[in-house]
Amino acid sequence: MAAIGLIAAGPAAAEDHFTPLSARVLHAPEPVRGGDGREHLVYELVLSNDSVFPPRAVTVRKVVATAEGKPVETLAGTHLKEMMEPFGVLDNKTPRTTIQPGGTAKVLMDVTYAPGAPAPHKLDHELVVSPGPPGSVELSRFGAAPTTVVDRPAPIISPPLRGAGWVVINGCCGENTAHRHSLLAIDGALHEGERYAIDFVQVSPAGLLAEGSNKVLRNYPFYGDEVLSSTAGKVVGVVDRLPDGPINFNLPPIEAGDAGGNHVVVAMGGGRFAFYAHLQPGSVRVKVGQRVRPGEVLGLLGNSGNSNAPHLHFQLMDGPVPLGAEGVPYRFSHFTAEGKLTNGGPFFVNGAKAKQTSAPRGPRHAELPLNLQVVDFGP
Ligand SMILES: [Zn+2]
Repeated sequence: MAAIGLIAAGPAAAEDHFTPLSARVLHAPEPVRGGDGREHLVYELVLSNDSVFPPRAVTVRKVVATAEGKPVETLAGTHLKEMMEPFGVLDNKTPRTTIQPGGTAKVLMDVTYAPGAPAPHKLDHELVVSPGPPGSVELSRFGAAPTTVVDRPAPIISPPLRGAGWVVINGCCGENTAHRHSLLAIDGALHEGERYAIDFVQVSPAGLLAEGSNKVLRNYPFYGDEVLSSTAGKVVGVVDRLPDGPINFNLPPIEAGDAGGNHVVVAMGGGRFAFYAHLQPGSVRVKVGQRVRPGEVLGLLGNSGNSNAPHLHFQLMDGPVPLGAEGVPYRFSHFTAEGKLTNGGPFFVNGAKAKQTSAPRGPRHAELPLNLQVVDFGP
């Protein structure tokens, strides 16, 4: 260690310290009002194990987000285990909070605050990891990954579907869902296009997803429902050549470009794009270059691309390519909250009858419905 010297500096200068991890925020968060009435800041920390003295596995014990020196969100224990996962580790034997030397992990963050309170201008993080001292030249508790908070309101858009009983599957914010953890290397860079994406399915008045066998596409009453443009804008992407797949809850890998199946991308201005995916083959009603109005029919809900069963995948993003963009937040102008589904997996996969809470209930305005909320978009 003697070979490593520190440059002498004045009393105001910070010292250098070795840390076993480095951390960065993938994409600066933008505030959004959730269907729970709270403001959410949603982002991901990307942690790399850069330990060299010596190289060794590092376990993260705590991640604290701070604003102006005060903790605003702490992840530890089982909550941290839920929201953190190493890249490339597919077995369940390696603890999710342990990063091997040279390895990388993601931590899915959801900082919330009361409505009406001002958004923090920036967030910092404190990481507590082990092993650390004694005998270590590395810090086991250190600050990392400062980020600004983007100061722009999430756009208010129209619902992309009509009617009652729409369930928000894989929705935002505080749970590790298929959308929230899909940080993907696309065209040489890491992106999270699905950060705020929703997979909409509809629960029938009888509380079911399908009438009869849930292995038959046409038994899903909402299969073929009209998908409506949520925004005004110009169509910049259309695919309408892929078949509807069979119902399959163990999908094989698929080419990134085909993942959305038949889809429409609408440029809504301000650097934002809306993406409507898994449409029925031959159902797309718009062409590239065409201008659309909110409420205009874009196509029909289907099961094309990387889709287990009929649903509409909807997201807003900062570029026209769905996976190679960053997911950005949005709020629906109106919906009526009908409660929250409590048996998502059995309901969606096994055809079980929906179980849902009676809260939150009632009319909501300018909010993003959250994971497993059930909403009525009206006629
Ligand atoms: Zn999806």
